[in-house]
Amino acid sequence: MSETATKKLMLFFPRWKSEKPIIYHLVKDHNLVVNVFRARVTPEEEGYLVLDVTGTEDDIQRGVDFVKTFDVTVNDTDKGVTRDADRCTHCGHCVVHCPTDALVIGDAAKRDVAYDPECCIECLACIRVCPYGACASAF
Ligand code: SF4
Ligand code: SF4
Repeated sequence: MSETATKKLMLFFPRWKSEKPIIYHLVKDHNLVVNVFRARVTPEEEGYLVLDVTGTEDDIQRGVDFVKTFDVTVNDTDKGVTRDADRCTHCGHCVVHCPTDALVIGDAAKRDVAYDPECCIECLACIRVCPYGACASAF
């Protein structure tokens, strides 16, 4: 039996035509615990889901394979929200808006802002508040 793990997935739907409830099947058929962070899925339009799934590595892989049968692009690289280091001035404005401490003052002496993508829940607050356009989202 494989180890239990949690993996963040970003699913992009080119055009959603299926009636099949993906989340339901991830839970019921693949034994995964699903936590949805962000969703925009509208019939007949492009859409996305940002979620994390917890289960055995085998079940996660089977769940991802199942999702891919829907012509869905799966981003499992934890690179949904990125920060452009060349644009970031370390002004710190995003830090107070980040609900998960994915953006924190990393070095108190230098007041550098550090970014940990693993803590990011894709709320997009940093993108809205960054005065320099340093943060961006794949979706
Ligand atoms: S608000 Fe933008 S420029 Fe300021 S620290 Fe955050 S990412 Fe960097
Ligand atoms: S998207 Fe939200 S959680 Fe992720 S780094 Fe930005 S403010 Fe933090």
